[in-house]
Amino acid sequence: MAELPGIERETLDVDVVIVGAGPAGLAAAYKLAELVRAHNESDAEKKLEGLSIAILEKGKEIGAHGLSGAVMDPRGIAELMPDWLERGCPVESPVKSDAFWYLLEKSKIVAPVMPPPLQNHGNYVVSLGELCRWLGPIVGDMGVDLFPEFAATRVLVENGRVVGVRTGDKGIDKNGQPKPNFEPGVDIRAKLTILAEGPRGTLAKQLAGLFHLYEGKNPQVYSVGVKELWQLPDDRYPAGSVIHTLGHPLDMDTFGGAFIYGMKDRIVDIGLVVGLDYKNPTLDPHNELQRLKLHPSVRAILEGGKLIAAGAKAIPEGGYYSMPRLYGDGFMILGDSGGFLNGARLKGIHLAFKSGILAAEAAFHALLGDDYSANQLQEYETLFEASWAKEELWKQRNFHQAFDSGQLAGMINAGLGMVTGGRGFGVANRLEGHAGHERMVRIKRYFGADDPHPPAKVKYDGQYTFDKVTNVYNGGVIHEENQPAHLLILDTEVCITRCTEEYGNPCFHFCPASVYEPKPTADGRGKVPFLNFTNCFHCKTCDIMDPYQVITWVPPEGGGGPDYKKL
Ligand code: SF4
Repeated sequence: MAELPGIERETLDVDVVIVGAGPAGLAAAYKLAELVRAHNESDAEKKLEGLSIAILEKGKEIGAHGLSGAVMDPRGIAELMPDWLERGCPVESPVKSDAFWYLLEKSKIVAPVMPPPLQNHGNYVVSLGELCRWLGPIVGDMGVDLFPEFAATRVLVENGRVVGVRTGDKGIDKNGQPKPNFEPGVDIRAKLTILAEGPRGTLAKQLAGLFHLYEGKNPQVYSVGVKELWQLPDDRYPAGSVIHTLGHPLDMDTFGGAFIYGMKDRIVDIGLVVGLDYKNPTLDPHNELQRLKLHPSVRAILEGGKLIAAGAKAIPEGGYYSMPRLYGDGFMILGDSGGFLNGARLKGIHLAFKSGILAAEAAFHALLGDDYSANQLQEYETLFEASWAKEELWKQRNFHQAFDSGQLAGMINAGLGMVTGGRGFGVANRLEGHAGHERMVRIKRYFGADDPHPPAKVKYDGQYTFDKVTNVYNGGVIHEENQPAHLLILDTEVCITRCTEEYGNPCFHFCPASVYEPKPTADGRGKVPFLNFTNCFHCKTCDIMDPYQVITWVPPEGGGGPDYKKL
C-alpha cells in the first residue's frame, strides 16, 4: 500500500469507525445511531451525547463499488427499517417468476420444480450499488459522518488491541515519491473499529493474521461473480424474471452457475459465478461468461440487445465453518468480510444487514459500559449464534465443501443436507475445507501432455461477446495512473520460473480485467506480469487464486476503481 515513511500524520478521534459503506457497514451505522438516539431520548441516567460514528468508503461515492447479483431476501432490511419500501428503497421488482435450467452445450433441461434454496417468492431483484446510494444519505441524516474516497489501508494496533485505522496517502507517484498534491493519510483513532470491507477485506486479512481469527475454522473459500447488464429492445424478459442455471459452460469439476435477472426499463442482468477452487489453471471466468452468452437459450434472451455495464466481485462461499472469529479487542468484522453469505441460496445482502444490526447492538452495550474488550464484544457472536442468521447458515454449513469432489457430489450433498438439517454426507457435522488455490492442478497434469494446449478462447464479436477491456470500460473503472500499482507481487522470479512451468501463469487468465499482461523479461528468460493496474475491478480474484499466494491486493488511492451503476 502506498504509504510514505516518516510522515507526520493528523489524528482524528472518533468513537466508532466503520470501514466500508456496503449493506453491513451502513446497517451497523444506522442501527447504532438509532439505538443511541432512543437511549438519549429516554430517561436513562448516563447519556451518550456527542457520539461520533464515521464510515470510510474507498469508492468515489457510496455505492460506486457495490456489485451483487442480486435477488435480495428482504428479511434483513425489513428488520433494520420496517418502512424500507415506503421510504423509497430502489427495488427493481419483486420476483415474479423463477426457473432453474441445467444447460448442456446446445440445449437445456428445465427443472420441473425449483430447488428449495433457489425459490425466490417474496424476494426482490435489486441493484446493490443503487441500494447503498439510497441508504447512504439516510445514514448521514442520522448524524453519521460518511467519508467516500477514503481507503483504509491498515489497522492501528497498540498493546494487542485495535485502536483505529490509517487511511492511504494520496498524491504519491508511481516511483513512490510525493507529488505536488501529496496529502498524507490520517490516523483515525476509535474506541471501536468495525470492518465491513466486503469479501477478502485488506484490513480483515491483516487482523486474521495478527489474531489468528481462522484458528480451528475451515479456510474461507470464494467464488468470483462476473456480470453484465444488457439493454433489450423489447419486453421479452420482464422485470422480476429470475433464472438460475448449472452446467455449461462450466465442467463437472468446477463449482458455479449462472443467473439471469430481469430489471426495470428492459434491462437484463446476466452473470456467472465461478468457484475460486477450480482445477483448470487456464480457466478464465470472463471467457466463460462470454461462452454462456452464446448458448442458444441465453442468446435468445439477449438477441438485439446492447451491453451497458459490467463488473466483477468475489463472493465468500465457505459458509458457517469458514467464518473467522468475528470480534477481538477493539474490533468486530461484518458482512462478506465475516463470511455472512448463504452459498446455497446465492444470497448475502440480508445476512450483511443482519450482521450490521447485531454488531450495532453489541457496540451500543460496549459504549454504555465504556468497555471495548474482546470479552465485551463477544456479545456480537453470542447474538449471532442465537439469531435467524446462524440458523440459516447452519442449515447450509457443509454446502460448498462437498463440491471439492465435483458438481455431482456437491449436488447430492446439497439434497442430503435438506433432509439432515445441513449435515449432508457422513456422520460428522463438519466437512473439512481447503483453501481454493490449493485445488488448482498443474498444467501438464491437467491437460495430460508435455505440450499442453488449453482450449481456444471465444473470438469476441463486439456484439454478443466482448473483450475484457471493453468490460472494464463498461464498469466505469478509473484510477489515477501516476501512482504505485496496488497489486504487490512478492516475488516476480516465481512468476518467470516456477509459475510459468507449473501452472502456465494463471493470472493471465483469471483476472477479468486484463490487469496481468504477459511481457517478455529483458533477459529473454520468460514472461513476467506487466500490471495494467488502472483496469482493476477490485474483485480480489488474484489475491485469492494465485497458486503461490505471492499476490497481495491493497487499496489504491481513495476514489479509484469502478463506478458501478445498477450493478
Ligand atoms: Fe480482480 Fe486482481 Fe484483476 Fe483487480 S487485478 S480485477 S482484483 S483479479
